[in-house]
Amino acid sequence: MEAGLISGLILAGGRGSRMGNVDKGLQPFRSSTMVEHVLARLRPQVGPLLISANRNLDTYRAFGAPVLTDEMADFPGPLAGLETGLRHCATPYLLTVPCDSPFLPPDLAARLFAALQEHDADVAYAATQEAGMLVQPHPVFCLVRADRLPVLSAYLAQGGRRVDGWYRDLKAVEVVFDDADAFRNINTLDELRGLEQPAFPASLAQVASCINGYDPDALPVRDAQRIIREFVQPVRAVEMVALRASLGRVLARDLVSPINVPAHDNSAMDGYALRGADLPQDGVATFKVVDIVYAGKPSAVVPGPGECVRIMTGGVMPAGCDSVLPQEFADSGDDVAMTVRAGAIRAGDNRRLAGEDLNIGSAALKAGRIIRPADLGLCASLGFAEIPVQRRLRVAFFSTGDELRSIGEPLGEGCVYDSNRYTIYGMLQRLGCEIIDMGVVRDSPEALEDALRTACENADAIITSGGVSVGAADYTKQVMAQLGDVTFWKVGMRPGRPLAFGRITSNGRSAFLFGLPGNPVAVMVSFYFFARDALLQMMGANAPLPLLQARSSEAIRKKPGRTEYQRGIVARSVDGTPEVRLTGAQGSGILRSMSEANCMVVLHDEQGNVAAGDMVDILPFEGLF
Ligand code: AMP
Ligand code: MG
Repeated sequence: MEAGLISGLILAGGRGSRMGNVDKGLQPFRSSTMVEHVLARLRPQVGPLLISANRNLDTYRAFGAPVLTDEMADFPGPLAGLETGLRHCATPYLLTVPCDSPFLPPDLAARLFAALQEHDADVAYAATQEAGMLVQPHPVFCLVRADRLPVLSAYLAQGGRRVDGWYRDLKAVEVVFDDADAFRNINTLDELRGLEQPAFPASLAQVASCINGYDPDALPVRDAQRIIREFVQPVRAVEMVALRASLGRVLARDLVSPINVPAHDNSAMDGYALRGADLPQDGVATFKVVDIVYAGKPSAVVPGPGECVRIMTGGVMPAGCDSVLPQEFADSGDDVAMTVRAGAIRAGDNRRLAGEDLNIGSAALKAGRIIRPADLGLCASLGFAEIPVQRRLRVAFFSTGDELRSIGEPLGEGCVYDSNRYTIYGMLQRLGCEIIDMGVVRDSPEALEDALRTACENADAIITSGGVSVGAADYTKQVMAQLGDVTFWKVGMRPGRPLAFGRITSNGRSAFLFGLPGNPVAVMVSFYFFARDALLQMMGANAPLPLLQARSSEAIRKKPGRTEYQRGIVARSVDGTPEVRLTGAQGSGILRSMSEANCMVVLHDEQGNVAAGDMVDILPFEGLF
């Protein structure tokens, strides 16, 4: 209720001098930027949001909050941001947080506000105390009565600059929080990198607290995706592999071009290199051929006026020449003389410029890229024999359910063959993971605990199927919850409502866990829309799902309020646009519908019925990593 009384001000106006003058708030951090983490945590706690920044204003504005620049000159520090913030504050209270505090506590505003009220104070600020240590105040995490602006202005006018000094004549209360890590701010690029793999990983509850109206029993797809994205950590281990072996792997570092490609201006055609200025304005001109240049054999000859050089494709352009007349454009030509008429080419034609493919010092490929055939060629053109790639992600998986039989076993009454392990195998293989197939695990607490522990000790991620739905008559959920920080969701989607997600620990090793539903279609849908992105993120890869649009050839019934994934066949229609139709029965157990499909039709939460001819989002299966 108090949130509406408080404006939130993010202090992002600093110079980032300890980070080499970068803009701290915009530093990449855990798949977004620092300031976005701060925004996400602050937004549910306050009413209006404000950002104090002095650079990159458009980037900050794009976050949707007014951006205020310091009214005082010369970067006088955070107090200048606070002063400007107070001037523009339309609520009775203002809460400040620094842009480099991505872990700020979810109850920051509430607790500071309560203390302010209780003590009838002007200012309340956060502090922490670690065992056996002195209380550590954090005066930039501070709730201020907006009408105290004149006190701050007077302090600044006297030359005061201390964040903990300006309120010395006001009533200030200190509020001690337990979680010192929540106030940890990030001052150097090394710290930032270190935290990408956090020493103190956030808890799922902490991550979920950033979601407005979080309800694990009715979680929209996008919120589930967001929690997973924020919780999952990349595995940072780099290995050098031979160029060919890097195909399909994730590039671990930017590859910077050590050379210009091409190294020299060269000819794009077989023909005659000449100076463009010598081309005839009208009529014809005859040039004397003074040398022949082959690819790889440059010539030292410098053609004079009215002279040219025969040149082969890829040959280095002779000094002074800027144009190539393709030999078929010459009126006549041999190794002695060449005649050209006006207008045959323009000056500058058919010359490839040095560095036009890649400039020395530029990033040829960015870290996070999944290496494709063209990239192999690009790396070869730069002379790279070995490529730094992320180590393969190890993923263990198993199926649960007493009714499941493995191929080769007799199929008893009421039993089914385990198909999920095969679809999961296929999807993981396509992602380039190292795979640990643990078979079917019996539905007993001991067997499940054993399997989860083994998986956890040997893999970075674990994928299970089955046993996570409501009322499932098995122990899967219970055992998962015992082994770590695991949450069980009912996601607003069809198929595939139940989903378990978290991290489990065994003998000092931990692994991220995805408990997918058992139904064969649901398992694939959940894999593609939840596990895939998370696994890619763990792999350090940058490869968002390629959602495209197609025209629906038919009407599709759809209830708003949940995301629906239907199996479709997309093809080129008569007018050339892609058109999609659904594959027959869409039941979540009907794997045939998945096999016949070449795409999934994605009908988003807010969408209602689709009319024939409407455009819909589709996820094509081919081209999926
Ligand atoms: P559950 O999520 O365990 O309640 O399973 C839902 C449905 O999916 C049940 O009909 C299961 O028999 C089926 N199912 C579960 N796991 C598999 C699997 N690995 N292969 C094929 N069907 C499965
Ligand atoms: Mg089951």
